[in-house]
Amino acid sequence: MERTLVILKPGAIQRGIAGEIIARIEKRGLKIIAMKMAQLTPEICKVHYAHLLEKPFYPWLEAGMTAGPVVLMCVEGCDAVHVVHEMAGATNGRKAAPGTIRGDYCLSAQENVVHTSDSLETAEKELKRFFKEEDYCPYSSPLTPFLYAPDEV
Ligand code: ADP
Repeated sequence: MERTLVILKPGAIQRGIAGEIIARIEKRGLKIIAMKMAQLTPEICKVHYAHLLEKPFYPWLEAGMTAGPVVLMCVEGCDAVHVVHEMAGATNGRKAAPGTIRGDYCLSAQENVVHTSDSLETAEKELKRFFKEEDYCPYSSPLTPFLYAPDEV
């Protein structure tokens, strides 16, 4: 089972759509095994978005990510990194496919509701950035045989 990071960005909290997004993750069959609210700082944004520091839009991105609290989640499931990244949709909400979170909930390249890790390697690094080992609450579910074939788990 893979683990990936999901951040419900400040816009999702302000707009009151966090519950709907969490419900989509749950209904897909993914497990939330860590979750907390936090206020991100400019310092952690600079680390999290280090690959974008030189972009002209970076100051706006940092302002948006620190404009209010976020919800941070560790989501677990078979191929969770790819599955959750696909659920988020294209970066620009105007180009994201309907049915994706961004395609259904936003119209912006910046204010695009969610962050999801884009590779297994990134997910491991990002989860360590926001969660300690004791934050995780992994659990077994009697529904597993109804969600996966034996060779998928
Ligand atoms: P993603 O979040 O889809 O993995 P990136 O890692 O490239 O995409 O970008 C991180 C975040 O930076 C995006 O989610 C978005 O909030 C912001 N961003 C990316 N590209 C742009 C852009 N062209 N204009 C404004 N904001 C952007």
